[in-house]
Parts: sequence; C-alpha cells; structure tokens
Amino acid sequence: AGGGGAMVKETIRVYARLKPLGRRQQAGIYSVDDDEKSVSSLEIIVPHDLADGFVNNKRENYKFKFQKIFDQEAKQDVVFDSIARPVAECALAGYNGTIFAYGQTGSGKTFTITGGAERYSDRGIIPRTLSYIFDQLQKDNSKMYTTHVSYLEIYNECGYDLLDPRHEASRLEDLPKVTIMEDPDQNIHLKNLSLQQANNEEEALNLLFLGDTNRMIAETPMNQASTRSHCIFTIHISSKEPGSATIRRSKLHLVDLAGSERVAKTGVGGHLLTEAKYINLSLHYLEQVIIALAEKNRSHIPYRNSMMTSVLRDSLGGNCMTAMIATISLDKRNIDESISTCRFAQRVALIKNEAVLNEEVDPRLMVVQLQKEIQELKDELALVTGKQRTSELSQEELLQLDKLIETFLEDNDPESTLDVGADMRKIKYCFSHVKQLMNHSKISDKKTVSQHISEEKDTNKEAGKEELKKLKELLQQRDDEINILVNMLKKEKKKAQDALFQLNVASAGSTALKQSLSINLEEKWSPSNCFSLKEAKDLSSSVNRLPFLSRQTGGKMSLGCQGAFEVFKWDHADSVTIEDNKQLLKQRFAEAKCLGEKINEVRNKINHLKGELTQRHIQRVVLAVSNPSEELNTLDPVEEKLRTQIEEEKKSYKTMFNRLKGLKVEIEHLQLLMEKAKVKLQKDFEVWWSEESTNLQVCQEKTELVRSPNSTTVYPHFIKSSQPLPTNSFSETTRASSNEETSGKNNSNNFNSSTSKTRTSPSSNTPIPLTGDSQIDADILAFIKARQNILQKKGKSCQ
Ligand code: ADP
Ligand code: MG
Repeated sequence: AGGGGAMVKETIRVYARLKPLGRRQQAGIYSVDDDEKSVSSLEIIVPHDLADGFVNNKRENYKFKFQKIFDQEAKQDVVFDSIARPVAECALAGYNGTIFAYGQTGSGKTFTITGGAERYSDRGIIPRTLSYIFDQLQKDNSKMYTTHVSYLEIYNECGYDLLDPRHEASRLEDLPKVTIMEDPDQNIHLKNLSLQQANNEEEALNLLFLGDTNRMIAETPMNQASTRSHCIFTIHISSKEPGSATIRRSKLHLVDLAGSERVAKTGVGGHLLTEAKYINLSLHYLEQVIIALAEKNRSHIPYRNSMMTSVLRDSLGGNCMTAMIATISLDKRNIDESISTCRFAQRVALIKNEAVLNEEVDPRLMVVQLQKEIQELKDELALVTGKQRTSELSQEELLQLDKLIETFLEDNDPESTLDVGADMRKIKYCFSHVKQLMNHSKISDKKTVSQHISEEKDTNKEAGKEELKKLKELLQQRDDEINILVNMLKKEKKKAQDALFQLNVASAGSTALKQSLSINLEEKWSPSNCFSLKEAKDLSSSVNRLPFLSRQTGGKMSLGCQGAFEVFKWDHADSVTIEDNKQLLKQRFAEAKCLGEKINEVRNKINHLKGELTQRHIQRVVLAVSNPSEELNTLDPVEEKLRTQIEEEKKSYKTMFNRLKGLKVEIEHLQLLMEKAKVKLQKDFEVWWSEESTNLQVCQEKTELVRSPNSTTVYPHFIKSSQPLPTNSFSETTRASSNEETSGKNNSNNFNSSTSKTRTSPSSNTPIPLTGDSQIDADILAFIKARQNILQKKGKSCQ
C-alpha cells in the first residue's frame, strides 16, 4: 500500500526503566552511566553470594547499552516525552509506530503503558498519547482526520476483542476469537477485532477503560490474564486533505507484553541455568523472531509461529517506527531476570526497520471523482457531437416538445423563441419535427408558398432588408432591456439580504465596533459548554451494569451478602484509594466550579468594558460631528486604555479557560479510575464470596458427620480459629506505598489463590447453629466475619 517515497530507516530504539525499589533499596547492585550523549549504559553488579551460584559464569558485572535509561525516580511525563511523543508525531504524519514494554511481572510494564490505578499524574503512555494526538488534531485544520481504536488481548495463542460489547455478559472462552487473515500481499488482517471510532480524547479514554475493565472481569486466578497475556491497544489514524482522494493511514500499537519470567531459573542446588525457558510460549517465539532478525543473512523470519509475532510483524523488521521499553525491577532476587531482560533488549536494538509513509488512493473517492468527470465530459461531448446520449427521449418529453413547437409556430410575436435547453436530442427532434411540418405544408400548399416567396423575393427585397435591420435593432434593444432588468433584480435582492443581515447584526451590536475590537468570545468557549461531565457519567453507569454479582447470585444480592460486601469494602485496600479519589474529586469539582464562576466574572467584565468602549467611541463620533476641528483619527488615550484592559482580561480568560479544560480531563480520568477500582472491589468480593460459600458447604458436610448424639450442632472447626484477617490480601497489585512488597512477591503467581486459603478463617466462640440452607448460612457466616472484623478493629484501636 505504501509508496509515497518517504522512508525512514532506523534501528528499534531501546530504553530501560527501573522500577522504584522503595525503602529496601539495595545500594551497589547497579549503576547508570549517563555521561555519553547518545547512549547510556546500565551496569549490573552481581553480589558475591549470588555470583558464586552462577554456573559456567563467574562474571560479576554486566554492562548493557540503552538509548536512554529512566532511573527509579523518573516520572511518567518524562517517559512519555522522550519515548512516546516522537512516535506519536510520526503516527500523525502517516508512519506506523509501535511501543512495547518487556519485562518480568511486577516490573512496571502496565504502569508504564497504561498507568497507575490511583493518581492522575500516574497516567501512562496510552492516555498521554491519546491526549497528545487529539490536541494535535484539533490544531490542524488543513486535513480531515478520522481516529479509531482497537484493543486486542492475546491469551494462550487466542485473540480476544477487549472492546467487544459481549464481554460484559460472557466468559472469555465464549467470545468469538480474533483470528489472523493474510491477503495475497501478505498483509495481516484481524477478523473479529472491532475498530471503534473515537472522535475525541474522552471517547478514546472511555474505550481504554472499558477494555481494561473487561480484561479485569475476564481474569480469574486460574487464567492470570494480566501476567500471561499480551495487550495491544492500537490507535488508527487516517487523514485526507479536502478534495483529495489520497489518504494517509497509520497505526500506533501500544503493547503491554506478558511477563517475561522464565521457569527453571535455578537448577539443582540453587545454580542458575543459562538457558531458562519462558513461561509464556509466545514470548519464546518473539525471541526467536528477534534472534533471526538480528542475524545477518537470514531470509526466513518465523513470524507465523505465534499470533503475537504475526500481529507485530510490521513492528519488528518492517514498516514501522518501533521503541521498546525494558522494565526492570532490580531487586537482588530479580538479578537473573533483569539480566535476561537486558540481553533481550540488546538483541532488539540490532533490528532495523524501514518505516514508509502510508499513502494510498481511496478507490471509493477516486470512483466518485471519475464518475463526476465522466458525466461532465459526456455532457460536453453530447452538446458538441450530438452523438453521445444513448438513452432515448421519453414519450412524455416528446409530447412536451410537440406542444412547445406548436406554441412556437402559432405565436405571432416575432421575438418568440423555442428554447429546449442544451439537449442535443431535443434540438434534433425539434428540427426534424419542424421539417416534417414544413414538408407536409409544402405538399398541401406548395403553390401558395412558392408564389409567396417569389413575390417577396421580387417586390419586397429592399423592404425586407429594411425590416430585418429594424427587427435586429429591436432585438438588440430588448436584449439590453432584459439585461438591465435582470441586473436591477439582482441588486434589489442583494439589498434586501443586506438589510436583513444588518438587522441581525444591529441586534447583536454594532458591526464596525465589533470588527475594530475583534473580540471573539466564541460559543464553544463558554464554560457551560466546555464543562459537561455527562458523557463520563454515561460510561460509569454502563460500567455499573456489569453483571458480576447478579451473574453469580442469580439476580439480586441477598441482604446478608450486601452486609458482607459493606464490611468487605471496609477491609479492602482499594477502598482507601476510592475514598481518597472521592475527596480529590470533590476538591476538583469545587475548583472547577470556582473557576467557572471566575470565568463568568471575567466575561462579564469584558462585556462591560466593551460597552464602555462603545460609549466612548460614540461620544467621540458625536464630538467630531459637532466640532469638525476635532480629529477622529487621533488615538484617544481613554479608548486605548480600555482596549489594553480588554486584552488583559481576555488573556486571563484564556488562561483560566485552559486550566478549566485541564481540570475537566483530570476529573474525567479520576472518575474512570474510581469506576475501575469499584469494579475491581466487586470482583474481589465475588471471588471471596464464592470461596466462602464453597468452604461452608465442605464444612457442613463435615459437620453432618461429626454431629453429636444429642443432636446439638457442633461448630465447624474453621469458624473457631481466630486468625486475624490480612486486610490487604485482596488487592492483586500492591499500591505504590508498598512497592517493595510487590517486588518481593513478583514470582508468586498463585498469590490470590494461595492467600485465599489462609484467609478463610473467621472465628467465633458463640455457637450459632447453621440452617442447612447454603444461601442463609453464607449470610450468617458473613455476619460472623463482619462482627469479628469490627471487634478486631476495636481491639486494635484500644491497644
Ligand atoms: P507489570 O505490568 O510489569 O506486571 P505493574 O505495572 O503492574 O507491573 O507494576 C507492579 C506494581 O508496581 C504496581 O503496583 C505499580 O503501580 C508499581 N509500579 C511499577 N512501576 C512503577 C513506577 N515507576 N513508579 C511507581 N510505581 C510503580
Ligand atoms: Mg501488567
């Protein structure tokens, strides 16, 4: 499809980002050398105790080169500016782009690509890129742009459309799979992956959050989608200059790869194995592709081995500007994984890509243009040659023509004309018809006609000439008259329009003054228009429709379940985030409201100043009229002062307006974050609840067995144990405040399921009989647990 000629050859840019290690930061494990201007290097120093365990390899330090290294304290905006902004710029210009994050689970891939779940400032490359792209599109009026997004998840070699609306209702396995199709030109097409149009930043952000939420819902402790799947968020941009049939299309892939951790890291006796295998098979194929690409003289690149390498074929060694971010969590126990990640990055850095400007001629637009041209040429040709029209005149048209000819012939007015339009068929028909009539009358009245003609010829030759001349003059006169009349008519019409226009303008204020001031407070600038949060709310309500609990509990939550949910919420780590964000949101709302009011004030002030200026101007005009010596052209200091005042107010209006716009984006983002946190909370609760129910059933069966002879219910063992509940155990990703904890748990993929076992141990010393009805029993259990939680809290606060 390419062919614009513009081509950019470059190797894949490879960056490293080091995750903050928090308080447990280990000094001396690595060093960053940023002296060189073009490349930086990362040196990893293996501690002695670890180095001894290395098989075949007694090296103590490793050095890797990167385009740039983002050390622990690097912020999201800096990462965006150096890595993503240049790629986004190219995408806007019509080049494909890819940014992918590679690293072990917990090293910060999702944080870098999508962003943190709590703070607005933690938003990652995707939201920032969307913001940047839509900003640029708004500024560029020379082209017409269309943007679509798609969100693909690849799990176990199967592709899923994260924006498929059916995601809400069905399980991952039941959704239609996204499959790869290859056309004869070896271009990849993805079947069942929807492209959703996004007209602005908000719409695109809503889609991103929808996809992330869908991904979260589909995840179970069994499938571990978030660490074992790849996610590809793609922004599709097409642009066209008005009137042109040439279209530029580009795709920007933002890729969050599966965790790169390998199995069999340590062999017998804690020895590190040099060739460890990826847990994720498709990453293994990715590595093979990269090895093949980095080798010279390799003709076959095994792209087709996995779905992910097929989808990213253009990004690796093809028509694309590609950047890789190696995310590294340089904890002591992650040293081997970190070295693997760096080695992978070094190979990727060898790959050369050739990005081509993706220009193509839209066949549909071309067809429309050509059809129009053909019609025009046909018309022209028909008029010139009279041969081109193929279709015959209809019966109706023929009758109409007969009538026209009849009236024409019968009209005694010498000036009467026969006008059938610029249609050669009609003109021809008229001639032949008249000829027929002539011939007919010739036969019946041959004599008279010929006599008459000869008479005229003989006697009235001179008179005829005179008559003709007179008639010609008359014709000219009449033509001139008509022209004059038509012109007059046109003028009258214009006058009427102008009058109407002026009437409209007069009611809005004097035109002249308006032009001289050039104050342009456009409609779209009014704060009320800008500050609508309706759409964001619409989305949140759609998220609320998600069928978690209703799906599992068959419609409604029981009262007990609701109560349990309330308690669960209390203990959940995310509820703190939700509360925090709620507060922040309130604050932002208040700020926005205040700003809106201020903006209105400034607007009123500008209007007031405008009024004063008008007043002043009128005064001066009046003065100039009554006193001709007074020059109106000289600058009036008062007027000038008013003008500068207006300019200043306009400036502050603009600044405040931009701040309001920024606030709006932030508020929307926060709302989406909160929605996501709420959904996650519900989902965690759902998992916990079903686990509790299952445990209860198991225990009940046991209880049945140990029921004592006097038939009083013996309380199940697990209810009596009094282990404190880990309050934080439900959050899959530990929050920023406890980073070091996360990195410690990086490799425990069964985190959720393993902790859930120690979790189900509420205690009670008061025997409460169970009913045997699982629903009610679950409620009772939840109640006991809730009470226990409260008692614990009380106990804690008393200590
Ligand atoms: P991955 O996607 O690679 O498995 P995450 O992006 O989920 O890893 O990161 C794991 C945890 O570490 C998350 O809680 C995330 O918020 C946090 N984190 C990662 N990188 C950073 C960073 N640069 N700054 C602050 N927190 C980070
Ligand atoms: Mg992740």
